[in-house]
Amino acid sequence: MAPTTFASFSRLAAWALGPCVPAWAVLLILALTERLSWTATLVSGAAVFVMMTVLVLTRLADFDLLIDYAERMLADPDAPAPQLQRSATVRRLLAAITALRKLWTERRDEAGALAKSRQNILDSLPDPLFILDHRRRIVSTNGAARELFEMERAVGPLVGRDLAGIIRDPKVLEAADGALGQSKKSEAEFTLPSPVERTFIAAVVPLSSSAQDGPAALVLLHDQTDRLKMDQMRADFVANASHELRTPLASVLGFIETLLGPAKDDEKARNDFLPIMLTQAERMKRLIDDLLSLSRIELHEHTRPTEAVDVIPTLRNVVELIEKQAADNKVAITVKAAPDLPRAIADANELYQVFFNLLSNAVKYGGDKGVDIEVAASPSRPNMMPGRGPSLRIAVRDYGEGIPREHLARLTERFYRVDNARSRQLGGTGLGLAIVKHITIRHRGALIIDSEIGKGSTFAVYLPIAG
Ligand code: ADP
Repeated sequence: MAPTTFASFSRLAAWALGPCVPAWAVLLILALTERLSWTATLVSGAAVFVMMTVLVLTRLADFDLLIDYAERMLADPDAPAPQLQRSATVRRLLAAITALRKLWTERRDEAGALAKSRQNILDSLPDPLFILDHRRRIVSTNGAARELFEMERAVGPLVGRDLAGIIRDPKVLEAADGALGQSKKSEAEFTLPSPVERTFIAAVVPLSSSAQDGPAALVLLHDQTDRLKMDQMRADFVANASHELRTPLASVLGFIETLLGPAKDDEKARNDFLPIMLTQAERMKRLIDDLLSLSRIELHEHTRPTEAVDVIPTLRNVVELIEKQAADNKVAITVKAAPDLPRAIADANELYQVFFNLLSNAVKYGGDKGVDIEVAASPSRPNMMPGRGPSLRIAVRDYGEGIPREHLARLTERFYRVDNARSRQLGGTGLGLAIVKHITIRHRGALIIDSEIGKGSTFAVYLPIAG
């Protein structure tokens, strides 16, 4: 229904005045020439005005409905269309407005879907990304950027802020300004300090956009932390390996020079030096053997073993080999295996190496109290290898000195030792546990170390069960 206020009626009446004027002019002439009485003239004039008002009212009511509809559409694009009957022209206008609205709604939905799919693409990128406007303000980001800055570093919402409020490194800001001012593509390395230090390369690319608030440059961050860590580890490894070899080599060379020079004919010196030279040469051999083992395991770490192996015979072979050394340390080794122990998916040779390294460590570092070393093999509780199915647990337990808690996490690093001198004196290479760790990784298993000072240590290996 059209608005029925006094204001709209008076507006309608004013609209009706115009069309009345010609009729009233004719009536006036008739009255002046006395062809019509003044009473009849007034009555006719009023009748014309009423008729015109009614006529305009019916047409204008539809226009009012249309205006009302357009106003409602501004607030609610899905507002229902009014029912118009009186005017065909207004009905056509309404049909045109409705068609326009449909087109506009479709376009709006299309634009919304396009923006959403663009955001999905950005969010699926693993690297953090920022899109900047001409004034270096962030107009868009992706999930990785929000995770890195909003969640990890709690810097607050990113969109709308100057890039300088998020990344303060002058090299990155210079690169961004270069892309915005001179359309220059560039890269800058920077480090984010807390909570965990991470190094990134920011690749800045200019985008062509004429709108002031539109996208003008893209900043993509590539995390370099792991690569730098790997480079450092590689450099450390070469330095460590050379250092480990240099000491025994220098000692052997020294003895050879002495035996060729001043102690040429000294039989006592020869008898004293040769066993030491042998020990040093054996140390170098062990080191080279361990280095080769490690690189061999790493080389095929991605291909997991496929054989079903009964671990007990392998375990017994190792125990047999090590028993003499254990007896020298006044300690015995007991093996407890659960009945009907399932077989493991494993490489028997590598398992041999795992058991050998763990048992010789237990004898070396855990045998000094004379309490037996226990080896236990049993199916593990299902949750010990999360997401990897049932497993077999082979644990080597000693009652030796134990390992301080702060060293536990680093024990499987190459050349990491709790006590360097002691390890070397006992013939250790510092690579035994690194080899164990890499073999368990290749087996898609796990190594869990538990230790308490003064009470001893447990090294538990988990292997997937065959079948
Ligand atoms: P190493 O050749 O020095 O024995 P490993 O990689 O086998 O090298 O072991 C690293 C270090 O872990 C050892 O130097 C030692 O300090 C510590 N460790 C290993 N096993 C035991 C154990 N059973 N008891 C106490 N400490 C151990």
